[in-house]
Amino acid sequence: MVARAARATDLADLDAAVSDCFACPRLVAWREEVARVKRAAFRDQRYWGRPVPGFGAADARIAILGLAPAAHGGNRTGRIFTGDRSGDVLFAALHRAGLANQPTSVAADDGLTLRDTRIFAAVRCAPPDNKPTPAERDTCAPWLHREVALIRPTLRVVVALGAFAWAAWWPVLRDVYGVRPPSPRPAFGHGAHWSGGSAPALLGCYHVSQQNTFTGRLTPGMLDDVFARAKQLAGVD
Ligand code: SF4
Repeated sequence: MVARAARATDLADLDAAVSDCFACPRLVAWREEVARVKRAAFRDQRYWGRPVPGFGAADARIAILGLAPAAHGGNRTGRIFTGDRSGDVLFAALHRAGLANQPTSVAADDGLTLRDTRIFAAVRCAPPDNKPTPAERDTCAPWLHREVALIRPTLRVVVALGAFAWAAWWPVLRDVYGVRPPSPRPAFGHGAHWSGGSAPALLGCYHVSQQNTFTGRLTPGMLDDVFARAKQLAGVD
């Protein structure tokens, strides 16, 4: 699996390879069970039920790093943050920021395109209860690391959605950039900012989960501030 990730010569190659990954038995079983049982509202749809690749511009200056696909969102539609409430909030914000051509993301063929931005998850398969194990996170890391390596020439800023994504970034520093992660690690927080050496700046943002957005812990205004900061740091107009 590590070798397959490392061999990917471009994003299309990587996307195809990750879509065919079966390295984590628990997650393979879960993604396939969800795809078979389905949610009642989607019972007429064919679920993707596979690992979900990254999505967006190949020359991205901004990367958005999430946790993992949602069982009935990305795992259903085959596109990250697509077809669920979290995606509704995220893509509405990206559209307001001028980074997405439309405010909604409902299906892989809905015409959505991103400007200067690529979105991917630290773990590429939907996990039970949205909680991958540390071992699953580490097993999946080579896909993330290779994707970052492929967009490294343009990448300037990474927005980590939540503490899991924030923690998943530090190994990328060493593997992709040859930069020693700071010790102790800076704590995750909404608006937290770290930068160092040749690596992209890292911005923390509360995850766009319903738990955060329904309770007002994360508001549209807070997301707008994060993406305005990301654009500024990345030199995106
Ligand atoms: S989580 Fe990652 S490593 Fe595990 S099966 Fe899915 S794509 Fe493969």
